[in-house]
Amino acid sequence: MSAPPIETVVVDGLALANELRAELAKRIAGHIEAGRRPPKLVVVLVGDDPASASYIKGKQRACARIGMDSAEHHLPASTSQKQLLDLIDTLNRDTGVDGILVQLPLPKGINANAVAEALDPAKDVDGLTPMNQGRLLLGEAGHRACTPLGVMEILRRNEIPLEGALAVVIGRSAIVGKPVSLLLQQANATVTMCHSRTRDLAGVCRQADIIVAAVGVPRLVQRDWVKPGAAVIDVGVSQVDGKLVGDVDTDGVCGVARIVTPHRRGVGPMTITLLLCNTLDAYEARLAG
Ligand code: NAD
Repeated sequence: MSAPPIETVVVDGLALANELRAELAKRIAGHIEAGRRPPKLVVVLVGDDPASASYIKGKQRACARIGMDSAEHHLPASTSQKQLLDLIDTLNRDTGVDGILVQLPLPKGINANAVAEALDPAKDVDGLTPMNQGRLLLGEAGHRACTPLGVMEILRRNEIPLEGALAVVIGRSAIVGKPVSLLLQQANATVTMCHSRTRDLAGVCRQADIIVAAVGVPRLVQRDWVKPGAAVIDVGVSQVDGKLVGDVDTDGVCGVARIVTPHRRGVGPMTITLLLCNTLDAYEARLAG
């Protein structure tokens, strides 16, 4: 007799994000009541990528809704690396700025690693600097990348057990795959990090209690890749015929997975919220000296 289908929870990432944003708004209101300035995030956009411009607007709206200040520096695509590094230096020194986010991707001719290295680690609210990445590796305090933090928060708020769980992360980028693997491992999961050269990816995923897909290959993770009761987190975003699609066949895994995040209103709103959270943490760390 086959097992009865599981009632899969399709995670409402926006609702979770709103819960967390309400907590952040309360913390900020407390600072304002105490006569302090609000925390401030500065976003830097270089070039005219419409997707990046829209992400930045979303981040600024999210700041305003919780009482956080934000400002945008929009530089032309012709900006030199030196000009960008000079701006970062100015923002690093500005005591009224708590968090700096440089929107990726950067135009050709600007080395993203050089930009990450230039950021003050205390203001690096996207967790990109070698210092913050190194602190994550060592398990020391520091800013973590926002999407991995969002994934962890989704797992925590859905009460997914991590201790001793088998977690499979698909993707090994410095901004998602590697940091989320480290965070899961630090939460005592046993982690397998997969990538484009992994053999029998489907077979590896079938063992997993938790699958985090951060690839950018439309509907890579299929129903028969998922162990009954597994948590499936879809980070990937790609376009098919002008429509946004995730790395997971969401409809397919329903009835098998315990939870799945949809590609819309899934991880995305949590990523922005953890950016706000990191900025508020940076502000409070400055206050604490
Ligand atoms: P990336 O291109 O840097 O990394 C992709 C990874 O996938 C690589 O490590 C590669 O080895 C692996 N890969 C590629 N093809 C594969 C295959 N067929 N099988 C297994 N592994 C394969 O991308 P990234 O910056 O890590 O982002 C990953 C995805 O997540 C992208 O679609 C991106 O748009 C999305 N993303 C979403 C959010 C969000 O907030 N929702 C945030 C960041 C990134």
